[in-house]
Amino acid sequence: MKPASFEYHRATTVSEALTFVNELGEDAKFIAGGQSLVPMMNFRLARPTALIDIMHIPKLNSIYRDGDSLIVGALTRHRTLELTTDASVVEGFALLSSAARWIGHTPIRTRGTIGGSLVHADASAEWCMMARLFDAQMTLEGPRGRRTVSSGDWFQGMFSTAADFNELLVEIQFISPRRYGALAEFARRHGDFALAAVAVAFDVVDDRLCNVGIVIGGVEGIPVRASEAETLLEGASLGAVDVEGAARSAAAGVEPMESEPGEAAYRRHLVDTLTRRAIHDALATRVQ
Ligand SMILES: Cc1cc2nc3c(=O)[nH]c(=O)nc-3n(C[C@H](O)[C@H](O)[C@H](O)COP(=O)(O)OP(=O)(O)OC[C@H]3O[C@@H](n4cnc5c(N)ncnc54)[C@H](O)[C@@H]3O)c2cc1C
Repeated sequence: MKPASFEYHRATTVSEALTFVNELGEDAKFIAGGQSLVPMMNFRLARPTALIDIMHIPKLNSIYRDGDSLIVGALTRHRTLELTTDASVVEGFALLSSAARWIGHTPIRTRGTIGGSLVHADASAEWCMMARLFDAQMTLEGPRGRRTVSSGDWFQGMFSTAADFNELLVEIQFISPRRYGALAEFARRHGDFALAAVAVAFDVVDDRLCNVGIVIGGVEGIPVRASEAETLLEGASLGAVDVEGAARSAAAGVEPMESEPGEAAYRRHLVDTLTRRAIHDALATRVQ
């Protein structure tokens, strides 16, 4: 199908984008890579009366290091993050590059942006999971000025975030580097959104795991932290990591969505399997 008709406006600065949205109101929408919004418009699931194209704001396409934090402009494309492997930039965040490879197919990754993914807020989106795993802070600009929202407060429900319609996501700050990590996913076909996904990251000090983070995506309406499983692994000696226990705990702690009978039980089973896999894979990154 084709989308309903709409006006098109191009912004070249953040303030221009904000002026447009304030003039056009709630029926207007920002468009970045268009990889979620355009399919929704084609299916008439979204019918914005005007699009404000933000892809020509050069300032928002950037990746840089600030101490321990990695700062990523909202218009940075999935593919750019996939190809950013320079240790001086991504040390402690190497998982971002491998996570990007799970996103759809190359044409989607060359157009779609991290900011668009975080505002679209699909619970199985890789950037939504990475935001929770690395304690990202989202910076918005809008009529209230500039404000920052932590990843714990960002996701408010399925496809719903703390951003207002007239606020522009400008920057994502990943603040908790972790040296080792892995992402395990299960999707029906390659390139599809995952039915369930588990991301794990930790540091190792004196042969013990620390700063353990485990995030489960695609199972509940938002990506969730498996805090009991994290606690179980925190401080574990490398020779005695209770992988089975952590996987069981992660699976027991979720409240899976069910759109078809039996799906919730299946997703819980996937969480168990994928948690094991992600922990084993993360431990394997240590010996490479
Ligand atoms: C076939 C297919 C497979 C896909 N598979 C995956 C997958 O496996 N994993 C995955 O994570 N994603 C997947 N995607 C989605 C893809 O990652 C999108 O790129 C992403 O979800 C949205 O980014 P975008 O830049 O294209 O945003 P757009 O589609 O342009 O916008 C999405 C929403 O965000 C808003 N928005 C965009 N940028 C901003 C901003 N800076 N500030 C405020 N609001 C903003 C828009 O108004 C809109 O509501 C897939 C898409 C397709 C078509």
